Amino acid sequence: MNAAKSPAGLIAAALAYFALARFGMAIFALKPSNLTLLWLPSGIALAMCLQWGWRAVPFIVVASLAANFDGMAAATSPAHLAHTMLAAMTDGLAGVLAMHMFRRMLPGGLARAADLLPFILYVCLIPTAVSSVLLAANLAAGGYLPWSEAGALARVLVLADSLGLLLVYPAYQGWRQRHTAPPLQAHPLLAAIAAVLALLLASRAGMPGMEYFIVPVLLVLSFHTSLLGITAVTALTIVGVMASAAHPAFAAQTTASDTAFRVAALAFSSALTLLGAALQRGQLEHSERTRQQWQDAAEHDALTGLPNRRLFMPKVQLEHQRSLRSGKPYAIAMLDLDHFKAINDCHGHAVGDRVLDAVATVLRDNCRMIDTPARVGGEEFAILLPECSGTQARPFLERLRGKLEELEIAVADQRVSVTVSIGIASFTGVNDTADAVAARADRALYQAKQAGRNCSIVDAVAA
Ligand code: GH3
Ligand code: MG
Ligand code: MG
Repeated sequence: MNAAKSPAGLIAAALAYFALARFGMAIFALKPSNLTLLWLPSGIALAMCLQWGWRAVPFIVVASLAANFDGMAAATSPAHLAHTMLAAMTDGLAGVLAMHMFRRMLPGGLARAADLLPFILYVCLIPTAVSSVLLAANLAAGGYLPWSEAGALARVLVLADSLGLLLVYPAYQGWRQRHTAPPLQAHPLLAAIAAVLALLLASRAGMPGMEYFIVPVLLVLSFHTSLLGITAVTALTIVGVMASAAHPAFAAQTTASDTAFRVAALAFSSALTLLGAALQRGQLEHSERTRQQWQDAAEHDALTGLPNRRLFMPKVQLEHQRSLRSGKPYAIAMLDLDHFKAINDCHGHAVGDRVLDAVATVLRDNCRMIDTPARVGGEEFAILLPECSGTQARPFLERLRGKLEELEIAVADQRVSVTVSIGIASFTGVNDTADAVAARADRALYQAKQAGRNCSIVDAVAA
């Protein structure tokens, strides 16, 4: 059985949930209000539900119950037990809700920048708002806090739970994609961790505001490591920041110059971060454009701009698959210019090129939108004609042949004209292949040449 899907993995995840729920309060809760700033179990619950589905829910409920039992049910009255149970079930519900929203809104996972907004809204804020309101109401109903404070608690819970989702889910996705991602390089990770630690220590040692520079450091790291690398270091950093923020010394009085430095540091680091994100985006767009241009150049003929054989044959394969499904035939026409060598010999290669370009223009101007004309060789063209048989295609190709015959290219005081021979073949049924149709069109073209050129022949094999 896949280790990641095994019951042992599920139990390990439930233990992690228990530990983070049990000790998270002690580390991340603001004193003396005891409001927690970061709730990592919410992210663990989503990862468990995505990994194991509904099977994860009882494990989440039991882990939550065990973690909260001391605090909430110590009085051992049945009412306390019921409220603790309700809180645990709310935790299970939160995981399932986030999982459903995730699968519905982000079936491909967090893959593009545009996925960030639906992730924050549907996976973080909406599920945590539901569970936080239920949790706060449950606590107020149980007499653990006055009703007047329930709203304020729910508000903090939404952010603390959302932060847990925001930190844990990308790390989970990075872990799932670890086999396809490039191997993790330790140097950038260690350098970033050292820089973050130095900034945190500087901030604590009398230079408040230094913590704002952590974000640009993490941004630079994100350019040099995988999703797993950046999310792991970010999670560690946030845990460090939150644990120190929960410490009473953090709120110590600061001077006016400290405040000014903080504001300046925030502005500077935000500007730096946004610039980095914009540069990264610009670079991505540039490489995408370049890739597209290379692909276009590789699949199109430079002289005429028509698709070349590299693009034409896959299109034929695709049409062949469509015909196999629908049963409707398609046709291929192969066109070869007659005695083209003589034009080159007589008028030069440049004139030959002009003739080829003019022929391509006639093909482009006369084909249907769904047809694909292509230049598949030196003076050989092909046309893919979807949804018609060879005999249905022939009248059109005869008209095309006539138009090419009328074509005249002015060269000095002369006019150069050209004729074309055409071979036509079409899909004949389930035992046919795209390559066989193309080969039959080539054979018909050879017959047209044999028959004296400037004519079209439909291959005899028919459906
Ligand atoms: P046929 O009627 O039997 O097809 O005679 P043909 O002269 O057209 O056939 P052949 O295959 O002997 O000659 C094709 C010529 O096409 C030879 C080659 O120089 C020319 N050719 C191939 N590619 C290009 C090109 O890109 N530009 C020019 N100007 N000529 C080309
Ligand atoms: Mg030829
Ligand atoms: Mg020829």
